[in-house]
Amino acid sequence: MSAFTAIRIDEDEAGYRAAYLEMDESELMDGDVDVAVTHSAVNYKDGLAVTGKAPVVRRFPMIPGVDFAGVVTRSSHPNFAPGDLVIAGGCGLGEQHYGGFAQRARVSGDWLIPLPEGLTPAQAMAIGSAGYTAMLCVMALEGRGLEPSRGPVVVTGAAGGVGSVAVALLAALGWRVVASTGRPEEEAYLKTLGAAEIVDRAELSIPGKPLQKQRFAGGVDTVGSVTLANVLAQTSIDGVVAACGNAQGMELPTTVAPFILRGVSLIGVESVRPNLPLRRGGWERLARDLDKGILARMTQTAPFARALDHARSIVAGKIRGRLVIEIG
Ligand code: NDP
Repeated sequence: MSAFTAIRIDEDEAGYRAAYLEMDESELMDGDVDVAVTHSAVNYKDGLAVTGKAPVVRRFPMIPGVDFAGVVTRSSHPNFAPGDLVIAGGCGLGEQHYGGFAQRARVSGDWLIPLPEGLTPAQAMAIGSAGYTAMLCVMALEGRGLEPSRGPVVVTGAAGGVGSVAVALLAALGWRVVASTGRPEEEAYLKTLGAAEIVDRAELSIPGKPLQKQRFAGGVDTVGSVTLANVLAQTSIDGVVAACGNAQGMELPTTVAPFILRGVSLIGVESVRPNLPLRRGGWERLARDLDKGILARMTQTAPFARALDHARSIVAGKIRGRLVIEIG
């Protein structure tokens, strides 16, 4: 029997609530690998989970935290042994299976990858699910043959976690990046990440015509709704937009015009399923293509005791870049 601290979300007659409490390892869910969690991170989904603003939690009680890094303490999985440094993200963590906002995790070894070479556990969590999603978005643009010579790309929700990593990755790969943000005070920050131009998100978030002036070769959209509709309307012939988020809303009030008149492609990006080959490939690219100095500039670190407050803040759009939580 071994006690550990966790954030737990409960929903019962007393209501929906998230709080720190002591748990015992015997209460962990099934899995063939135990991990002493050293780091986690705050993602938008964690904010939705702890506040209950969207039904991301599929069972109660739940330990939130879609990401964690740590050290294996027990394993009956062939790929892992005690002492291995590992990371996990997505795979239902914090939604259907106890996640990373706890000092201990027990998961399927099929959801783990070894800590990518060249990254510390803290750096891996600075990237986290948000950074991995940004990488998948970039790979989606590349997969459709988009190249920097085609023109600028727009990143929406640029000062957020996915947006910040997308700006940094695209700029490092030679793109002219237009960063859309509702926080003009973050212009200097976004430029240090590599943004060439900043646009006020208000420009993109009010309804516009189905086809507008062609401005972008493509884009990475983290906010959905009217913003994504406008991005599609401003994308040039044969452009490509990768959509991964819904910070503005779930709806997509667009028409078929960008698709049938300009050959624009809209690619959906989903980073939650285990898909180990894609995960390993994405993380290898992140370890290689993301400048560690720039990663440090977009990252803040907080102790576990502040994780709950920060998770509440992210849904209010108050977190800049990435927020690593020191757990162990
Ligand atoms: P953050 O909160 O860090 O970033 C979201 C950003 O969106 C904010 O920083 C803000 O950027 C912008 N934003 C917030 N509210 C609005 C609004 N009403 N209208 C327009 N823009 C807004 O979250 P993450 O980066 O962690 O996640 C971004 C999105 O991606 C979320 O919707 C999340 O659920 C989704 N996601 C999806 C994944 C997948 O597998 N598909 C995986 C990971 C995340 P700014 O201040 O610059 O305007």
